[in-house]
Amino acid sequence: MQVHQYDVVIVGAGGAGMRAAIESGQRARTAVLTKLYPTRSHTGAAQGGMCAALANVEEDNWEWHTFDTVKGGDYLVDQDAAEVMAKEAIDAVLDLEKMGLPFNRTPEGKIDQRRFGGHTRDHGKSPVRRSCYAADRTGHMILQTLYQNCVKHGVEFYNEFYVLDLAMTEVDGVRRPAGVVAYELATGEIHLFQAKSVVFATGGVGKVFKTTSNAHTLTGDGMAVAYNRGIPLEDMEFFQFHPTGLAGLGILLSEAARGEGAILRNSDGERFMERYAPTIKDLAPRDIVARSMANEVREGRGCGPNKDYVLLDLTHLEPAHIDAKLPDITEFARTYLGVEPYTEPVPVFPTAHYAMGGIPTNIGAEVLADNDNVIPGLYAAGEVACVSVHGSNRLGTNSLLDINVFGKRAGIAAAEYSKTADFVELPEAAENDTVALLEKMRTSDGTERIGAIRKDLQELMDANVQVFRTDETLREALDEIAKLRERYNNVGIQDRGKRFNLDLLEAVELNFLLELAEVISVAAIHRKESRGGHFREDFPDRDDEGFMHHTMTYLDPDSETDGIKGMRLETKPVIVTRYQPMERKY
Ligand SMILES: Cc1cc2nc3c(=O)[nH]c(=O)nc-3n(C[C@H](O)[C@H](O)[C@H](O)COP(=O)(O)OP(=O)(O)OC[C@H]3O[C@@H](n4cnc5c(N)ncnc54)[C@H](O)[C@@H]3O)c2cc1C
Repeated sequence: MQVHQYDVVIVGAGGAGMRAAIESGQRARTAVLTKLYPTRSHTGAAQGGMCAALANVEEDNWEWHTFDTVKGGDYLVDQDAAEVMAKEAIDAVLDLEKMGLPFNRTPEGKIDQRRFGGHTRDHGKSPVRRSCYAADRTGHMILQTLYQNCVKHGVEFYNEFYVLDLAMTEVDGVRRPAGVVAYELATGEIHLFQAKSVVFATGGVGKVFKTTSNAHTLTGDGMAVAYNRGIPLEDMEFFQFHPTGLAGLGILLSEAARGEGAILRNSDGERFMERYAPTIKDLAPRDIVARSMANEVREGRGCGPNKDYVLLDLTHLEPAHIDAKLPDITEFARTYLGVEPYTEPVPVFPTAHYAMGGIPTNIGAEVLADNDNVIPGLYAAGEVACVSVHGSNRLGTNSLLDINVFGKRAGIAAAEYSKTADFVELPEAAENDTVALLEKMRTSDGTERIGAIRKDLQELMDANVQVFRTDETLREALDEIAKLRERYNNVGIQDRGKRFNLDLLEAVELNFLLELAEVISVAAIHRKESRGGHFREDFPDRDDEGFMHHTMTYLDPDSETDGIKGMRLETKPVIVTRYQPMERKY
């Protein structure tokens, strides 16, 4: 086993991890550990844009942006965090511009901006152009730009290193990170990275669902590793279903399409969003649009032979405009569905897209041990984290913003912390749990296959924990997950080798997915109201008296919740600064 020592270890090389690394790398000895080659991270798949109230093309200000974020999140947003994000958005975009990001420009040469769902002028009066973009490849440009700047600053990358455990040590009664345990894909070797501070930036967990816009690798590793070391997870019941996935496939067609003027229609050709959100129509927040689409299908106004999707109509847009602003996603429609968006509407249906929940942090990106205490030296940023700037529903373009604002904050804070802190002693044989787990997996004679269990889990979550939920569907999900976990105990892998054993790692990732699916389902059972991305048919209204709080799920050997041994649920107050909850109309 190899042992390494760095001031700061960053886990994940997506937008959040690399934005942190640029800051940390200039201040302290920093290593970035990533299971993917950095530029393959999911941030590179982001399409539509990153918002900031630059007011380059029309009047706008960061306070309107804060309000939209809070209202978009159905008032579960911590408002101090939303203020920080909206205010720092402007510098976040300008930072990227200075690093060399080729944004689309206005004729005068300013960064161009376009419309996106839920972003409005003057508290909901009409849609506003707030999203900065580089065609429909904004994430790709961000990721490349950040990577180039990491290289420029000499950040050290450990590529294809899978972090499978977090080593924690108690010092004077306070638990602190001592380092991380990583598995090197190329050799099968275990590495121990000792660090004064650790930043988690491992992204989301979309792969608990079957129909998803997320990459194969988004298995919630950081969330699961933290949870297994006693760190709570916040608001896991809130998952965003993006309205416009390609029907039957889930591949994303960015909301930028609607930002540029595309319209959703049902089988009657009706622009149905006029009924659900009369003011901003197709540009309502995603939770509302996704639910409206699902409702059209339920009420028999779906399209196609099975009446199970609706149509995204771009045919009234000029082909030249489509080619300039939406080249990639229109190509997706041609490639994957054989549909020509110039002349035919595109079949779409909601697709699992974004985890609003995750590892709880404060606005300094410090990870919370509980409602009142942070874990000194541990930070999280990006989709793995829950600050909470997105509350119960994230607005489009607020994630690329979140990863830049809080990634930067995490990088600075982790580096500054490492300047005054000492190394914490690693627990004895910190790698033991990981080594034992991998050995058991690699040598098991089990007859169950990873792919089969994962498929059953994803289909179960699509059927029971999707846009519409009830107590019955959620409890059924829990029962079935318990059975899948039993099957998982008998899993056997085919590749017994040490080098490039992806089979082995998929087995580990599947375990993360099973654990997190359980957390999502239990948290969803306990939120007996409908808010943002969480819609309970048995409790269709928002209930501010009963549920205006965050959910905190802990792994706790002494507790039992809904028949799940070792799980405890608590609540955390929402931080309200200036916007009292109001009825949410668009
Ligand atoms: C198709 C698509 C389009 C999107 N479009 C937009 C958009 O237009 N605007 C917007 O605001 N948002 C968009 N989003 C959301 C946004 O892109 C993501 O939420 C955001 O990029 C996440 O960034 P991240 O840095 O947190 O994680 P990621 O970019 O997912 O990076 C995660 C990193 O963690 C590493 N990692 C994971 N597990 C481990 C492990 N065990 N050990 C070591 N490393 C690990 C990976 O290697 C990777 O480098 C989109 C998302 C998708 C899926």
